[in-house]
Amino acid sequence: MTQRAVQVPGRQPDSAPLPEAEPKPKPNGSEPAPASSDPLWTMTALGDLGPNLPTGIVADGRRSKLFRFRPYRMKEEKQLGEIRDKTKGMSMGQLVNEVLGLMVQTVGPHTFDTLSPVEKRLIIGSMIMTDALYMYVYLRHEAMYGEPLELTVNCPFCRSQSTLPGDLQTLEIRQMAPEIIDLRRSYRLRDGITVKGDRRFGLTLAPMSWAVFDNQAFQGGSNTGARDAAIIQASVVAVEGIPIDPFRLSDPELDELTKYDFEGLVADIELHTPGPQMVVTTECGSCRRSLRQMINWEYDAFFKRASRSSHGKA
Ligand SMILES: [Zn+2]
Repeated sequence: MTQRAVQVPGRQPDSAPLPEAEPKPKPNGSEPAPASSDPLWTMTALGDLGPNLPTGIVADGRRSKLFRFRPYRMKEEKQLGEIRDKTKGMSMGQLVNEVLGLMVQTVGPHTFDTLSPVEKRLIIGSMIMTDALYMYVYLRHEAMYGEPLELTVNCPFCRSQSTLPGDLQTLEIRQMAPEIIDLRRSYRLRDGITVKGDRRFGLTLAPMSWAVFDNQAFQGGSNTGARDAAIIQASVVAVEGIPIDPFRLSDPELDELTKYDFEGLVADIELHTPGPQMVVTTECGSCRRSLRQMINWEYDAFFKRASRSSHGKA
């Protein structure tokens, strides 16, 4: 039971192309789009990686990974409580910015103690999205050692909500070697999209930065189509034949992606994204159907002790 919630990326073998979590209809019964290349990451667990970023910040020709939090005491608990009250109804991105801005002491080559909130935000924003997320997860782990994390799952089929416990120590994390600097990769669409008047097939993808990532993509699990579109938009950094770099696809351009190309891109991005995975494949507690679900990173769900949360929902 404890294992289920942390098997998140476990369904993906270390270097093989990502299998579909569940069978999805393929147009004309065609095969899924092949992955563009083998992923660069290797698998580890949160308990083994410790206070090190899965990807890291480039400094002096390497990726600098170590981070350190200030002690999580009553004082910080109160400050975090204030942040929580302040960010009710705010986006997940704002919440993580506030929490990390308060708690991070050093990250990679940066020391936060002497920086202004704006400077801190710029640094966090420039990090790989899943590095920022990992720090947030690790803070929870460090502050509430041994407390299982509760994952709230909202079933899109029967609309019921269920809760799964998870042990963060064993949460699987994809890490990059410090020598790997260039994280860009190319991807070829099968059907292509029209951009600036021409049909184009070649894309360059890169892991999303925290700042680029559209906070919309974090919200809820109900509209996975909108979330996936936001993730694609944030991941494509260049398009073949267009000398603008970085280049961002517009919403109408994205809307033109065929189902086949869209699914292929989503799978490819999932396969190559380092760090902790944000989507769990699990089973509804009520109807037992298999579903994909964003982990609920909201403060209440994420930071409260499981023992204090058995009544009602956050
Ligand atoms: Zn259900």
